Amino acid sequence: MTKSIAIIGAGVSGLYAASLLTEKGYDVTVFEARDRIGGWVLSQDGFDLGPTWYWPETETTITQLIERLGLPTFSQHTSGDLVLERQFGVIERHTLPPGHTVPSMRLVGGMASLTTALASTLPAGTIQLESTVTSIQQAEDEILVELEGGQTTAFEHVILAIPPRLVSRISFQPELCETTKAKLANTPTWMAGQAKVLAVYDRPFWRDNGQSGQGMSWAGVLQEIHDASQPGGLAALFGFFRLSAAERSVFDQDELNRRVINQLVRLFGEQAQQPREVIYVDWSSDQHTATVQDGEPLTDFPVYQPIALDSPREGRLSLAGTETDSLFGGHIEGALRAAERVVEHL
Ligand SMILES: Cc1cc2nc3c(=O)[nH]c(=O)nc-3n(C[C@H](O)[C@H](O)[C@H](O)COP(=O)(O)OP(=O)(O)OC[C@H]3O[C@@H](n4cnc5c(N)ncnc54)[C@H](O)[C@@H]3O)c2cc1C
Repeated sequence: MTKSIAIIGAGVSGLYAASLLTEKGYDVTVFEARDRIGGWVLSQDGFDLGPTWYWPETETTITQLIERLGLPTFSQHTSGDLVLERQFGVIERHTLPPGHTVPSMRLVGGMASLTTALASTLPAGTIQLESTVTSIQQAEDEILVELEGGQTTAFEHVILAIPPRLVSRISFQPELCETTKAKLANTPTWMAGQAKVLAVYDRPFWRDNGQSGQGMSWAGVLQEIHDASQPGGLAALFGFFRLSAAERSVFDQDELNRRVINQLVRLFGEQAQQPREVIYVDWSSDQHTATVQDGEPLTDFPVYQPIALDSPREGRLSLAGTETDSLFGGHIEGALRAAERVVEHL
């Protein structure tokens, strides 16, 4: 008989696990709390509001998967000078030697091209959106998965492909042991306290001036800025914030946008003053990604490793998601490797 498997979460990790299992002939259902697939992967008009890059020199799983799916790619634009703002308003310009960064790649259409392509490998009806899992009960021969609203379905195996800290929102019968609960609670979700802002322009005007679009600042609202332009399409600069979630929350959206644009003008000149559009996504206030603890900035890169969810029947309940990969935890590569690990375990 075909094994029935529930996957909780339609982020990269859940979708890839679903794709691998479907290929092997399993009967898979993916439950996703949001009204869309992708998790952190969110592209708007081809611009990435979540993850942007992968690094082919080191990240073999994503590189091979993108090749296999036949997705068009392009290199991150880095040629030109970097600008540095050590003190507010004092701008240094640096010409970096060739090969100064590990080459990163992007997907045409944004990273959502990857999640859309993965979803398209699944039979129709596999993914159930707006389906938040609230309870998991392990019975003798099956695991009951209950959704908000009460609908309950029995499966032989359940894969949770959600950030470890979000596991505590699901009630387990029998309960997870205290050691496991502590491990889950103490595993921070990478980047969950971050926000991303994009300023969209008609043209990449900074390139005319020999600038790469890369900026670093120890004084402005943004800490790190990059060229987010699309080949043959609109141009954009995107930034990660230097301000923590709590510091950002002091400003209303207009004031935050004003400070972002003022900083871009300081770093890239007057033409930055009039973007066509400013797009802002604060992941720290996204309930399907972050917990309150994730608002605290991380001081070190966390140690990520597989976390066993104790189960009376070993191997029927597994945890995937990027935060369970010991080599590339935090990255999409980690999310994919975690999916491969739990699928192999099955
Ligand atoms: C701003 C930003 C920039 C980034 N840049 C990069 C980058 O350039 N390159 C890179 O490699 N990585 C980057 N990352 C990290 C990357 O986005 C993540 O590593 C990856 O997307 C995680 O995928 P995942 O499937 O493990 O988890 P998620 O994307 O978090 O997926 C989990 C899914 O589970 C769902 N869910 C949660 N709870 C439940 C429930 N109870 N019931 C049902 N569904 C539930 C959620 O809605 C979500 O869709 C970035 C992250 C951010 C925020």
